[in-house]
Amino acid sequence: MRPSIARVALPVPLDKQFDYLIPNHLFPIIGGRVSVPFGRQTLVGIVIQLVNESDFPREQLKPIKQVLDAQPVWPESLYSLLHWCSTFYQYPLGDTLCNAMPSALRKGKAADFTTLVEWQMTPAGKDQLMQGFGRAVKQAKVMSMLESGSVPHQEFIDQEVSSSVLKTLQEKGWIESIDKKPSFAPWPKEIEAITDKPKLNAEQAIAIATVNSNPGFGCYLLEGVTGSGKTEVYLNLIKPVLEKNKQALILVPEIGLTPQTINRFKKRFNVPVEVIHSGLNDTERLNAWLAARDKIAGIVIGTRSALLTPFLDLGIIIVDEEHDASYKQQDSLRYHARDVAVMRANKEKIPVVLGSATPALETLHNALTGKYHHLTLTQRAGVAVPTTNKVLDVKGLYLESGLSAPLIAEMRKHLGAGNQVMLFLNRRGFSPALMCHECGWIAECQRCDAYYTFHQYSNEIRCHHCGSQRPVIHQCQGCGSTHLVTVGVGTEQLETQLAELFPEYKTIRIDRDSTRRKGSLETALESIRKGDYQILIGTQMLAKGHHFPDVTLVGLLDVDGSLYSSDFRASERLAQLFIQVAGRAGRASKPGEVILQTHHPEHSLLQALLHQSYRHFAQTALQERKLAMLPPYTFLTLFRAEANDTALVEEFLRQVRHTLEAHPLFDDTCMVLGPTPAPLAKRAGKSRWQLLLQTQTRSLMQKLLTSAKPAINLLPAAKKVRWTLDIEPQDLS
Ligand code: ADP
Ligand code: ZN
Ligand code: ZN
Repeated sequence: MRPSIARVALPVPLDKQFDYLIPNHLFPIIGGRVSVPFGRQTLVGIVIQLVNESDFPREQLKPIKQVLDAQPVWPESLYSLLHWCSTFYQYPLGDTLCNAMPSALRKGKAADFTTLVEWQMTPAGKDQLMQGFGRAVKQAKVMSMLESGSVPHQEFIDQEVSSSVLKTLQEKGWIESIDKKPSFAPWPKEIEAITDKPKLNAEQAIAIATVNSNPGFGCYLLEGVTGSGKTEVYLNLIKPVLEKNKQALILVPEIGLTPQTINRFKKRFNVPVEVIHSGLNDTERLNAWLAARDKIAGIVIGTRSALLTPFLDLGIIIVDEEHDASYKQQDSLRYHARDVAVMRANKEKIPVVLGSATPALETLHNALTGKYHHLTLTQRAGVAVPTTNKVLDVKGLYLESGLSAPLIAEMRKHLGAGNQVMLFLNRRGFSPALMCHECGWIAECQRCDAYYTFHQYSNEIRCHHCGSQRPVIHQCQGCGSTHLVTVGVGTEQLETQLAELFPEYKTIRIDRDSTRRKGSLETALESIRKGDYQILIGTQMLAKGHHFPDVTLVGLLDVDGSLYSSDFRASERLAQLFIQVAGRAGRASKPGEVILQTHHPEHSLLQALLHQSYRHFAQTALQERKLAMLPPYTFLTLFRAEANDTALVEEFLRQVRHTLEAHPLFDDTCMVLGPTPAPLAKRAGKSRWQLLLQTQTRSLMQKLLTSAKPAINLLPAAKKVRWTLDIEPQDLS
């Protein structure tokens, strides 16, 4: 009998599905989209089941409006992975599935390629180029953008070139539009496009042979310092995959998706390469998604969300810089792309390679205990030499905007020799606080439990937690004094100070404030490489994925904040930053030096890092984690709750604690910590509290949560607070 009811997962934050009648003329399929009435709206959802019985009386059910797909949205393995994600991360199935679709599909658009318009120069245009465009600035801009090939229409819009400029040029016969359709041609026989590849060293060859010798699922940690040839290993692993007519997926951190990286893959192989990242518009994203699903693309390179791309025939997953924090999504479905990549490889029965110079402690633990294969590259290809590393004890020293005199002297030496100097400070803005010199009053955000950060350039004070901003205050609101002083140092202040200390050198600042405009980071990096600046200041952002051969001195200005943080991962992140910058500074002819300013030069983690290696640091840190019963030795779930009423949030989490502790699965290996106020106890006017659940195994955590969640949902306070679950949280601050 033909089923009469479709069970549909909808993008609503509820842990349930909804039943709809199937009209006679419609044929929904499992895993395909339908549009259905929901309250007064029409929603697009995914059919989960086709049944004949509903818990609701038939006459209360509404019919499906439209069937949108004749084939499932996802291949079976990915569809089942998404179900796993929903269960593991305790996130509603409807929201999980809908979030995993490109937004064009979420909006109900057909799952078909859209032709994209690109512009290119005509021969007449090329002639005109020689003669110039006089005062037609916009026209000249368009023509210069087209000089090196065709450009998508959207890119002109992004660059604030209007369609009318394009039209004028077209009428003059200087440019023409072309329709960009994906090529459905089969991949050429000769997969590799180049012949002058480096000859592999022994470690690389072993790594490649190890992966290739195990058919099916396997998880490999490829641990190798920067420049040791990891990317070369990836390329060599991808080749046989493509030759078997299978596809490859490469994940990179947000900041690592540079044209250089992409080009290395594009130049190496004769197959279409798709790049998926958050900057794509709806059409581009859908096209890229379809190109992977229909096996037009051989290689997909992308950031976190690219992990959930469907493939007809996936043969390998590579997660580069697997320790990078950007792999964890911090809202809605709080998944960790590296962990889900391992699960995906398992379901697809293919290898997954996790590459890093500084593996996450979780990953390293899995490799050291034999759960993952451990491959190492210890030799640097090329000629880079290790840096000299020093801790600089700044106890009792006067700090000039965070800089000690010995560091300033060292900077002078390196700059005088014609080299570049790089300084790290993980705090944006001019100064973390504005304080009254008479009474000590500090300008505080009214909506958050946080101080305003003073931004000198915009002459504003801004809250970095809720984003509110206001003109700078000139008078103390406590005593009326006008003697206000700044407390602490941010990147802006450092920049100002350096201009005073080193007027003869040019300084550039790289942080979230200075790189807000699209493309501005690339421009800045390029001018650094060209040597336009001698002093580089930055937050974490500057460390990742960029090689600066003329930088011979790196200073980490405030190490102590990371050694004594409320977040147990802070020291691990510091170590990763340190190794990263140490690995990228200098070259053979110009050896580099790294200086860490600290009040605690004797700290054991710092010592392990400096005098031994990341591995020693990691082993020391793992010992500490074991003693403290922290991940990877236990598994954490973070309950966060917020509401206007402090008592209510606390009471809700108290009830959650009680629900968990009273649960039959809760045994003496489990522990609940809290409720406690969150590290930022008030944000945007709301009180924030949290509760940590710690279990000894992942499976117990999952069973316990799955079984306790319905009861938690039914708690009277659950409807009055906003609460979320973060499974294996990465950020506890
Ligand atoms: P990683 O990804 O570990 O930073 P890469 O793969 O980018 O390292 O390699 C660093 C540089 O060394 C690149 O220019 C690469 O072409 C080169 N290289 C890699 N492997 C070899 C090798 N076996 N022999 C010579 N050069 C190599
Ligand atoms: Zn605020
Ligand atoms: Zn005052």
